[in-house]
Amino acid sequence: MTRTIIRNGTVVSLDPDVGQLDDADVLVEDGEIVEVGRGLSTDNAEVIDATDHVVLPGFVDSHIHLAQTQVRGIAGDWSLMGEYFEHMLGNITGLYQPEDMYLGGLFGAFEKLHTGTTTALDWSYPNTLEHGEQAVDALQDAGLRAVYTYGPPGDDAAKWWFDSDVGLPEGNIRELHEAKIRDDDLLDLALGLRGPDFCVDETALADLELARELDALATVHMGAALWPSSVYGEDYQGFGCLEDELGPDVNVAHGNHFAQEDVDHAVEQGVSFSSTPEVEMQMGHGIPVTGKVLEAGGRPTWGVDVCSNIAGDVSSQMRVGMQVQRMLDNQEVLEGHEEVTGVSISCRDALKMATIEGARALGLEDEIGTITPGKRADLITVRTNDFLTAPAHSPVQTAVFQSDPSHIDTVMVDGEVVKRDGRLTNPLVDEEFDRFVASGERLLDEAGIDL
Ligand SMILES: [Zn+2]
Repeated sequence: MTRTIIRNGTVVSLDPDVGQLDDADVLVEDGEIVEVGRGLSTDNAEVIDATDHVVLPGFVDSHIHLAQTQVRGIAGDWSLMGEYFEHMLGNITGLYQPEDMYLGGLFGAFEKLHTGTTTALDWSYPNTLEHGEQAVDALQDAGLRAVYTYGPPGDDAAKWWFDSDVGLPEGNIRELHEAKIRDDDLLDLALGLRGPDFCVDETALADLELARELDALATVHMGAALWPSSVYGEDYQGFGCLEDELGPDVNVAHGNHFAQEDVDHAVEQGVSFSSTPEVEMQMGHGIPVTGKVLEAGGRPTWGVDVCSNIAGDVSSQMRVGMQVQRMLDNQEVLEGHEEVTGVSISCRDALKMATIEGARALGLEDEIGTITPGKRADLITVRTNDFLTAPAHSPVQTAVFQSDPSHIDTVMVDGEVVKRDGRLTNPLVDEEFDRFVASGERLLDEAGIDL
């Protein structure tokens, strides 16, 4: 049995029964959190000193395209309909070789782990089965907990998008699931649906049926920009053919333009929402759906979406998403000629959306998302003893607003330490780095993109 104790930290468990404890220990045995308390026995345990650290559940990124990591920093001036579809989906994605999927996925996963995200939904566009295999290999080699999302291949936008009547590649999905995902404790399968915005109804429904047969989450890009069924006015169709099919196994990425009544209906049916606020605000998706989901009694979750555009840390999305919603709510009060006398979302709520609510969206709330005995040990520690973070009067506010990825000292996934003393422990970080950079350079070269 392996026994690890995270000692003497400020534990922000986000579990109401465990609460928040100063000078407390978290005992982990064989990857499971077994006890949280003060002065636990360190017998036969590896000790990680968390003095002057906040101990948190790892972040969950509920929507990210990890394979874009080696083409990072190219889309910062792009809009969705102006450049992104043309250059990314219409060009670069088709140029990916299997090893590019591996290298992007690997370093995307490293970025996640380094910045405190221990679980991610990786929305993938595998051009062939081998592309999918390499993407999954990357997740396994990095040691990230992940929901691997098999989406439409990225090699032929005309075939797979808009009015597509071609279903997701069922044979490949089944084979990959069988061979690499089903028996891996850290991996789950999702299907990346085009939904009625991007394929004909029959195909959208068939893809959903396949997801349900495989017990896989169905995650769908919907209701952003002026996508076909989401346009304002008379053509607005809400969830279209999915309206009567909604359930907790459906996850919506973006959802900016859904009417409140449609969000109400979706939340009632248990649908989860992934808001990717920074990308949405830049690229023309519309106002983030956060407020509508909260109004409906649900809890949104955060995603980075495209690391070709923005940095991969979920904590930035937590901050941006919360502050944008506070701004919108404040403005509404001001426009009613009243004073703003409180904030609409607390830091603790935003932190929950980045952890337990993300876990719930991915169907993992019984396994991760809080520091709770019986759950798997996906934990991070945030250092609070330098001149950027000290004094940490409120550990929650320090974690939300005052710290950056450089303060994330230790990261543990399923009880395995993947970052210690501020450095990733995986030797592949150094060993594969040159190949990773070369892959990005080759892809942009072939795509003819010169920035
Ligand atoms: Zn996306």
